[in-house]
Amino acid sequence: MAKAGTGTGKSLASVIPSLSYAIRTGGESKGPVVVSTATKALQGQYYKKDLPFMAQHFNPHKGRDGFSHAILKGKKNYLCLDRLASPAGPVPIEIIKKLQDLPSEHEGDVAELGLARPHETALTTSSDDCPGPNECLYNVARPDNSPSCYYERAKLRAGKADVMVVNHALLAMHVKIMAATEGSIALLPLPEAIVLDECHKFLGYMQNAIGWSLTRNRLFRWANACLDGPDLERFKGLVKDLFSQVILFDKQDKDRQQIVERDTLCNNQILISMLEMVSDALDFWSDEATDKRDTESRRNLRKTANMLADLEVAVEPDNGDNFWVELDKQDNKILNYRPSETKTAEFLSEHMWPMAPTILLSATTPTPKSLGLPNHTDEFEADSPFDYKRNSRLYISGLDGSAPFDRMERELWEQRRYNEMFRLVASSDGRALLLFTSWVDLNKAYDYLNPKLDGKVTVLKQDKENESERDKLARLFKQDETSVLFGTESFFEGIDVPGKSLQLVVISKLPFPAMIDNTRGGKLDFGKEMLPEMRKKLVQAAGRLIRNHTDQGLVAVLDSRLSSKAYGRNVLSNISPFNEMTRVRSLADACEYLESLEEGGDDA
Ligand code: SF4
Repeated sequence: MAKAGTGTGKSLASVIPSLSYAIRTGGESKGPVVVSTATKALQGQYYKKDLPFMAQHFNPHKGRDGFSHAILKGKKNYLCLDRLASPAGPVPIEIIKKLQDLPSEHEGDVAELGLARPHETALTTSSDDCPGPNECLYNVARPDNSPSCYYERAKLRAGKADVMVVNHALLAMHVKIMAATEGSIALLPLPEAIVLDECHKFLGYMQNAIGWSLTRNRLFRWANACLDGPDLERFKGLVKDLFSQVILFDKQDKDRQQIVERDTLCNNQILISMLEMVSDALDFWSDEATDKRDTESRRNLRKTANMLADLEVAVEPDNGDNFWVELDKQDNKILNYRPSETKTAEFLSEHMWPMAPTILLSATTPTPKSLGLPNHTDEFEADSPFDYKRNSRLYISGLDGSAPFDRMERELWEQRRYNEMFRLVASSDGRALLLFTSWVDLNKAYDYLNPKLDGKVTVLKQDKENESERDKLARLFKQDETSVLFGTESFFEGIDVPGKSLQLVVISKLPFPAMIDNTRGGKLDFGKEMLPEMRKKLVQAAGRLIRNHTDQGLVAVLDSRLSSKAYGRNVLSNISPFNEMTRVRSLADACEYLESLEEGGDDA
């Protein structure tokens, strides 16, 4: 488990030795080195930047150049040929025609197709709805014998590569399925070694993979597909009873979430009756799938197996896990389940860590124990190679000495923050990454700054409805040296902009996580959970600034709690890079420093 600051070369330091190890130990039948990242942005960075660079300069194989690498995402990231024939929603015919005529070498990654979100959803599928490659009518062999299904082709390419880049969501799902089927079904080939980047996030992905959500709609959809006649009517009746008699919700609850007492679920006769019906349906669809071997039967078998597994967890006696009910935007009830962190760590200890030697990387590593790692785990911490004291400045807005607490103060605080933001960006002549913790804050700042900046610098803004544009925005920001990028939390990490395109990082507010944890129900503990999470995000955001030895610039935190509160002062005096940066005392000094960079650099 290695801890090293952002931009220090963790990818090089972990992939090259892993690959050498895999080739030495794996022989002819060697599996790939699996590199896993939390975000698709970092996944793309490995695939498009880091690995091509390594392959160009490092040759572990005798007799051939470099090494091969491939990327694999989850199924819903690829165009589905079945959906292309019958979309799960309205899609204009000209779009369908264009997609049917994609060049044969196209990878079918929907992030590259520029589709609107509803079209993307209508043309992709999930593991629940895909009957599998052997049963899908559209997955016919191409002239070169490769499958025509885009996902299957990506999987094949990845399986043959020396290094396969995946994301945590897919790796966690692989571990879950391997564990559930005792290794008989796998999403990924057996790895020779694993590199787990941003490892502090993996536990959360594993909890999500094991956890589930049950809605009335999901249960009805399953019943409509897998039952008929009186069984269908009976099951629907049980679902209605479940949501009206068992999954109660006090609509006065402002948090829109309530913990569910375990006894209400595990001894509940309605749930037990539903479980029996799903279990019978599983027997039926197993026989149908064996006899008929058709797409529909295989699909229903898979859906029924998933449903059974989820209901079985709900009726298990108390095991310390989290069940809660919440309301969606339309006030529909959702029953959620997440395993506890301790149980997830035990699961990792049993099913993940024995899989292959693993290198865990992070700028802010968790403890080995919290991830269920063995006691003999080696730990390593690398010092930053960058001279933050010389090459960076830190400005903390000290306007009111504390967080605002009433509406008047909040509005005033906003105006001041946006005004400071403008003055900083004007001094740096663009070259700025402006980071926000909410879409509301981002949009307000954009509305204030954009008219003032328009025509002077290129203004780029992240769009909530079009997350797939993120990579394109990052590319444009890098290319246009004097641009400004407005981004939310997905830009706090995984964006690498060395050089003059980024000399100013502005953090609009301290990045505290939401007080309610939507992934497990209930409130977070301020000291034990919210503060560490905020620190991690702050470190990652500041880490965007200095990416090589010659980079220079300023981080501005426009939230005075960083210096007025004890937890903020702790960050400033103990946590890198904040404790290494040179502080500037006023906005005027910050602007002057940024202007000096424009005039050829600062020699202080
Ligand atoms: S196997 Fe068929 S249904 Fe499944 S993703 Fe591929 S094309 Fe779509």
